[in-house]
This record gives sequence, structure tokens and C-alpha cells, in this order.
Amino acid sequence: MIPFLDLKAQYAGIKAEVDAAVLNVLASAHYVLGPEVEAFEREFAAYCGVKHAIALNTGTSALHLALLAAGVGPGDEVITVPFTFVATVSAICYTGATPVFVDIEPVTMTMDPAQLEAAITPRTRAIMPVHLYGQMADMDPILEIAARHGIRVIEDACQAHGAEYRGKRAGSMGASGCFSFYPGKNLGACGEGGIAVTNDDRQMEKIRMLRDWGQERRYHHLLKGFNYRMDAIQGAVLRVKLRHLESWTEARREHGGHYTRLLGHSRRVTVPAEVTGRRHVYHVYAVRTPDRDSLQRTLQEGGVQTNLHYPIPVHLQAAHIDLGYKRGDFPVSEAAASEVLSLPIYPEMTPRQVESVAAAVEQKAYA
Ligand SMILES: *Cc1c(COP(=O)(O)O)cnc(C)c1O
Repeated sequence: MIPFLDLKAQYAGIKAEVDAAVLNVLASAHYVLGPEVEAFEREFAAYCGVKHAIALNTGTSALHLALLAAGVGPGDEVITVPFTFVATVSAICYTGATPVFVDIEPVTMTMDPAQLEAAITPRTRAIMPVHLYGQMADMDPILEIAARHGIRVIEDACQAHGAEYRGKRAGSMGASGCFSFYPGKNLGACGEGGIAVTNDDRQMEKIRMLRDWGQERRYHHLLKGFNYRMDAIQGAVLRVKLRHLESWTEARREHGGHYTRLLGHSRRVTVPAEVTGRRHVYHVYAVRTPDRDSLQRTLQEGGVQTNLHYPIPVHLQAAHIDLGYKRGDFPVSEAAASEVLSLPIYPEMTPRQVESVAAAVEQKAYA
């Protein structure tokens, strides 16, 4: 069987380092925030090419606090895409603001800048593009439109650690960028984790206060805050894993390239596009086919685990029916939701496994 992802293989490769880091935290008795988390913040900020990073308990918390720090609240609108993980939209709802959707463009399946301007109203307070699957949204036109209207851009970079757009790292282009360290992400904790990054000193200060009960200093609560702090064990584990992230990313890019060479001329599936000037970090390698459900069944029977990211766009989810959207409102997202199929991709995969998956997709006998 070829699994969709293999976190045991990842752990096996770094066990000594991870175990030592965890034991060190246990012995230190410093369990929440503290020196390991602070060191990780400095190292992750440097990795993204930004001034500040604020470590949090989840990626969703990062999105929530980045929005609050940008002044988003009840009565405001935040523009995002419906073809994303639901957390993007939930974080907007947490602030009391209203999510407003624009469709994706069909090649990269990220926010279509050509449709952005029409969605802007006097209430628009922020724009949240999603760097889906590990490829950055088309940031130059998005930032240009946002700047012209005086609106902040907050990047949902939860799937895009190390992705680049014209040499700039994910998270470094907007007012702030938000990452998740959920175990299956390209950089994953041994539990939950997230981080917000920014070059803006004021955004940094606000997010830092909001994650720890709005305290400026102990028991001096300037803001109505949250308990969104990162555990020290996660900080220590993430420091270890960050040292491996570039080689893992290069392995993902190898496998992605290998799939694309093998399946680029397939008549069964369309392969994902890698746009010139953008570094795709292949959090997900999703092919498209009108026969998605039957291909998924065939692969399952052939011992290949796949996933769907995502089968229902957020505007059609029961939880968000109150937004008033209906089927047909975002045709590109709806088509993508019915056609995408995510193939196994993780750094520890072998080229041979990639070839087996590709052969199974082509429904040829295993090589
Ligand atoms: C994973 C993810 C999130 C949420 O991150 P958590 O750490 O699970 O809270 C938000 N947006 C996108 C696009 C994601 O993939």
C-alpha cells in the first residue's frame, strides 16, 4: 500500500534530534512559550525573510489574530476564496466580519485577481488570498488593487511554508502571513501549532498581546485577548524540523516534477500547473479529472491512498449557508471541487513509489 502521507517515516529520520529536544523541554519545566519558542520565532522569521514571527497554538488562531490586528471586526467585510479549507472562512467569522468570496482562476486554483475589484465595497477591510496546495496566489495584482483601495492583505500561507513569488517568501508580502504546523503540513508539530509573521512592528505587538490574554505585561490587560500560546515542546520540535525543511521541500518538488513528467501527457488527468516565477512547495499534488470518484476508487483498490482537497467549496457548506450563496455562484471553484484528486506526496516517498502511483493513475499494470 502507498499511504497518502507517512509521518512515521519522517520521525524515524530525525528521532534522535526530536527525542532530545522534547526531553530537554521536559527537564526545563518551561512548558508554555519560553526560550525554545522564542528561538523558533527568530528562526522562522528569518526563514520567511520577515522581521517578526509570533508563535501560536494553531494556524486558525494565526488567521484570527492577524485579522484582529488589522482592525477587522463586526460590520467589516473580508474578501477570500471559497475553494479553501474551511478554517480560512471560520477565522473571518470569529472576528464578527462577513466573508465575501471571489472565485479562483482555473490554472493555479488561487484567487482570481481579475474578479477581485468587483467584490470590493466601502466595508472591505482586508483581503485574504490562500496559497493553495503550496503555490502562492498571484500576489502582485492582488497587492496593487489592495494598495489602491487602502485595504490590508493577509496571506493564508498555511499550506505554503517556503513557497516563493518572484523571489519573495510566502507570508512576507502582505501586512501579515499565517502558517499552520498541523502534523500533516509541510512543517508539522507533534500536535497543534501555528505562527503569524509580519514586518510591521505594530501588527507584531498586537498579535503578541492578543495571544496571551491581551497583556502588555503580567495582569495588565490592554486588549480583550485569547489563550493562543504555543507549547514549548512544539517550539522545540519545530526548531528541529525547520532545519530539515528545505531538504524536505526539495524532495517534494522532485516528486512533484516526477509526477508531472509521468502524467503530463495523460489523457486521464490534468496535472497541476507550476507557474513561472513561483516556487511551488507541493503540500498537495492534485490532478484533475471529470471521473474523479471512480479514479479514486480504482486507486484505493490498487493500494494507493488519495484525498480530496476539497470536495465541497465553502460557499456550499451547510455551516455557511447564512452567507446567502448558492450553487452556480463560483463555477470555477465548484468545478475544481468535483474534479480534484490529491495523490500521495511526502519527502520520504521513493521515485519508484511515484512511478507506481502514476502507473495506477494510467491504469497500467504496476511497473
Ligand atoms: C491547515 C489550514 C488552516 C488551519 O490551520 P490549523 O493549524 O489546522 O488551525 C487554515 N487554512 C488553510 C488553507 C489550511 O490548509
